[in-house]
Amino acid sequence: MKKYSLNVVGCKHAVNYLLSALEGGFLSHAYIIEGQRGSGRHTVVRELIKAMACASDNAPCGKCDSCAKIDAGVCVDIYNIRPAEGKTELTVDLIRGIYDTVGLMPNDLPFKVYVIENGEKMNGSAQNAFLKLFEEPPENIYFFIITEDAGSLLPTIRSRALTLRTERLDLDQMLEVLEKEGIPDNKKSRAAIMAADGSAGEAIRIYNDDSDITSYRKTADELINALFMPDTDKLSFVVLNQKSIKNLDDMYAVYSLIQKALRDITAYRSGAVCRALYFESLDLSEEYSLHISDKAAVKTDSVINELLQTSDIPINLNLALTEFSSRVWDAHLI
Ligand SMILES: [Zn+2]
Repeated sequence: MKKYSLNVVGCKHAVNYLLSALEGGFLSHAYIIEGQRGSGRHTVVRELIKAMACASDNAPCGKCDSCAKIDAGVCVDIYNIRPAEGKTELTVDLIRGIYDTVGLMPNDLPFKVYVIENGEKMNGSAQNAFLKLFEEPPENIYFFIITEDAGSLLPTIRSRALTLRTERLDLDQMLEVLEKEGIPDNKKSRAAIMAADGSAGEAIRIYNDDSDITSYRKTADELINALFMPDTDKLSFVVLNQKSIKNLDDMYAVYSLIQKALRDITAYRSGAVCRALYFESLDLSEEYSLHISDKAAVKTDSVINELLQTSDIPINLNLALTEFSSRVWDAHLI
């Protein structure tokens, strides 16, 4: 019997389900892949397409023509549908464009695949146009909707496609993914992992961008000092935020680091025996721990959590930062 394995780290539920669907022959023509950016959504889809197309007994083999083309991103039967350059919405025109190609015979593979990226960016009319394809799926066509939030899709779309979730990776899984990418386990890669908050894609991006990683850490250090050392006030903390955070990526990365520092501080205070996440060792958080109460640490962490999970892109980053940093400041004082 043909054997399948998907070369994916983590995402166990999604991968196990897809493997059983492949082996049992009950693969559906459409799936919604939901998870945060960099959590392996594209990897899951790519590995699945390879497995579906590969003729080897152990699929995907990674060597045959279709495997090689898919890996290289040059397979003409895979269409990636994403918002146009500089645009944030997936418009109805982009979805209608699918109708132009959907009837054409595939070239490289025995089927064709449409990968809708940023599914949460499909506006109402785009989703309705898409629904028609879903209701009468053409033969040998597969759809994957990749999204951070399946809840943003119409219930009629969600009911026609199973939603599979990809999960944040833990440290060992992150190290495994990075190793596969040829990135060694060292201080620099650990720092990238820490800033990436469970997203391997993000860790690789940060690792490969030297300036980011040092500057995230430097900014986080500055903000932590401002937050926990007695000679700062709210205004200078807010101003420092505005000065050092230039975009949403900065904000997520820097505040994810600050959360790790908070975890170290609470761990130190409670005498927990665990590995430090931010500081070189837990002892180094002693000085900071003098300036924040347990209650305030928990509150600050939950305020940061809440704010980082708001997926709305603020129209005015400076305004959002003012509100964000004020709330963090207030929380750390209670
Ligand atoms: Zn192959």
